[in-house]
Amino acid sequence: MRHAKIKQVVYAQTEEAFETAYSALKTKYADQPSLIEYLDQHKYPKRHGFVKAFTSRYRHFGHCVTSQGERGHSELKAYLQNNRHTLLDLKDRWVVMSRVFRVNYQKDLALARDRVYHDLNAKRWPDLLNPKLNQQIVPEAMKLLVQQLHLMKDEVNQRPCSGSFERVNGIPCYHTLRTLRALKSMVGCEDFHPHWHFQRPVASPADGAARHLPAPPPAPPGPTIFAPHRVVTRGRTRKDRSTRRDPSQFEATAGIARPRPGRLGGERSAVRSLASLTSLASS
Ligand SMILES: [Zn+2]
Repeated sequence: MRHAKIKQVVYAQTEEAFETAYSALKTKYADQPSLIEYLDQHKYPKRHGFVKAFTSRYRHFGHCVTSQGERGHSELKAYLQNNRHTLLDLKDRWVVMSRVFRVNYQKDLALARDRVYHDLNAKRWPDLLNPKLNQQIVPEAMKLLVQQLHLMKDEVNQRPCSGSFERVNGIPCYHTLRTLRALKSMVGCEDFHPHWHFQRPVASPADGAARHLPAPPPAPPGPTIFAPHRVVTRGRTRKDRSTRRDPSQFEATAGIARPRPGRLGGERSAVRSLASLTSLASS
């Protein structure tokens, strides 16, 4: 029940629906003033970031949570394994990770193009879809299109078009599909945003790019990071376990070493240094 209320707030289609659902949520939990205060102070000001009524104003292709970025972060951490690396080591691991990712990604794309799932096969809709669509558009977009095709067939559904599906995904919604069907027009890859193309038409004028692109600038040289120098230090200072006392102030200022009696040559040298002290005093 609690989740249903919050879902109504987050998935509200319009700003008015959001405000209504938010007031209803606050009324329902009026007995928890600290919760209401938290929502008002920390969640309501950030509503533009997560409420559908606001996020659907932008073309985000369904990316409206941070989990993709978090996954990338955890993948890099898996390559690092621990936190004891030099800067050079970090750079090398990053290069390896991005190379492996790229190879796997290209392999997955090639697989997705060759293996067409039955449900997503454009040939199942011969009157409306270009039969080559599966070789041009990624399965994720075909999934969204097939959902819209089923909505198009449902003649009971006569809701007006809000335009948000097309705005968010760059894929024709079922209202557009109905119009195309009435016009006996086919849906081709040009009806999809380049984001969904296996081969993105980066330089096509339809994409808004110039016809003749200038040569790309030379790649910047990689960072010059060298392996760290091996520095030989004296190491950690050893704990002094001897019972020798620190020299007294008069000994330190006199600058005379006074070996402890009883140590190697201690007695004799102590006698000698005493002698030198007395000679210093007499002179
Ligand atoms: Zn629509």
